[in-house]
Amino acid sequence: MSRPIQAYIDLAALTHNLSIARQHAPKARIMAVIKANAYGHGLLHTAHALSDADGFAFLELEAAICLRDAGFRQPMLLLEGFFSPQELALLEKYKLSTVVHHDEQITMLSNCKHHGLNVFLKINTGMNRLGFAPEQFPAAFEKLSSNPAISQITVMTHFATADGAIDNEVFKHQLQIFNQISRYHPKPLSLANSAAIIRYPQTHRDWIRPGLMLYGVSPFTEQTATDLKLKPVMTLVSKIIAIHQLKKGDTVGYSGNFKADKPMRIGIVACGYADGYPRHAPTGTPILVNNQRCRLIGKLSMDMLAVDLTETNHVHLNSPVTLWGEGLPVEEIAQAANTISYELLCTLSTRVEMVII
Ligand code: PLP
Repeated sequence: MSRPIQAYIDLAALTHNLSIARQHAPKARIMAVIKANAYGHGLLHTAHALSDADGFAFLELEAAICLRDAGFRQPMLLLEGFFSPQELALLEKYKLSTVVHHDEQITMLSNCKHHGLNVFLKINTGMNRLGFAPEQFPAAFEKLSSNPAISQITVMTHFATADGAIDNEVFKHQLQIFNQISRYHPKPLSLANSAAIIRYPQTHRDWIRPGLMLYGVSPFTEQTATDLKLKPVMTLVSKIIAIHQLKKGDTVGYSGNFKADKPMRIGIVACGYADGYPRHAPTGTPILVNNQRCRLIGKLSMDMLAVDLTETNHVHLNSPVTLWGEGLPVEEIAQAANTISYELLCTLSTRVEMVII
């Protein structure tokens, strides 16, 4: 018998969230970001549910090829670009677009045999991850413009703090630099991630690049996904596989750091850090058992965690448990475990069965 842990993937929620992105930016085209196995949700079914998107963005070349082989015809963008002439040849073969963010890529592109490549030239406006510094940008733009293999250049950047305080200085600075530079280069533009799509219409321009919001997760601490009309796509469920009665003074789990201060009833859930649940989630992290909010207790182990059932009703062996998703936003678990929703979703273990609904 397989373990009872499963991740439900709600395809209708994906399609709904895409429509919310469209409502925010009706004039822009949507490059749906489905890197990291669609943020842990599974590549192909996610792409099918998002097939109204105008394009897809990834880091992984294999994922882009997989979608081409499956018949997707939309533009596909590699967000880190390519790393060798061999990869460039695959871009040409599969008609993939690429981010260009350093000179070595420009040199490789100058040896390109085929024509018709679309590139996204990236400016580093302050994220300091990828992209040409503002003063390097004109030369990079010139070289790409004079390369006959390249049929279109889109100018892009990526925000570091669009999800931070409204109109924070870093965001304003990045936008100002981008606007200054792109003014002299009349090309399609692309700036906005989920947070910017929702909060800053002035960043929408030609291509928006939503990731997190498509999966029904809020990028902001002060607004929930429900506030933003987003629906959670992944719901991680399991079951109670053992129940114990504790006496005052009994401890729970490894290192025995949780000690019962009164008689307690606890349940053991088939879900541990090897499934992708965050190991640092502390006592008190919320868990739904039979639709009742309970708290995690003790240190979770590789395959199991313990939950306090003392105040619950009608909880038995096999009672249903929700770790995150519908009814318990993943944002809450991320906050309790001092991490971010992105990490929880995309590190879900491959041993968790995905059930498409
Ligand atoms: N654009 C780029 C370049 C990214 O790296 C990402 C994700 O990290 C996104 C867009 C999507 O961001 P988000 O998931 O916050 O919408």
